[in-house]
Amino acid sequence: MDMFIFLFVLFVVVAVPIAIWGRRERIQKNRRADREREEAYSEREEAYRNAKKAYKDSLWALSEDSANATLNYRTLELGRKLARMTRPNGVAMFDEIALQNDIKAVTAGKVEVQGTVETVPGQEPTKECQFCGGITLKRFIKCKHCGSDFE
Ligand SMILES: [Zn+2]
Repeated sequence: MDMFIFLFVLFVVVAVPIAIWGRRERIQKNRRADREREEAYSEREEAYRNAKKAYKDSLWALSEDSANATLNYRTLELGRKLARMTRPNGVAMFDEIALQNDIKAVTAGKVEVQGTVETVPGQEPTKECQFCGGITLKRFIKCKHCGSDFE
């Protein structure tokens, strides 16, 4: 009987603190992981904010110097970099169109947009509107840019 009491006391003195310590370690580990995730997230947020600012600044500079082809190309590249941040599979067609529209808006169409439209593998085929030159999905029956009907 004394042996039983001895083992019981040993259990209380050794096993219980180990269990408590282990639980605390796990909690701390989880907290550390949470903090690391938060830091990684805020780093991505900051990188995105910086990329967005760089793109907007470049667009602004382009609006002041709209015939500058280098600046035009640089703006497009900054825009693609920004778009890639939100799309790990690459810049999609509608990103390209949005970027080109931004650039056309600030340059008032004074220069041709540099570079070619990138396509993503497996993407739906597109066509060019014969009325406004806008790019639309092939299956559309109406142009989303000018509203013209396709036959
Ligand atoms: Zn059109």
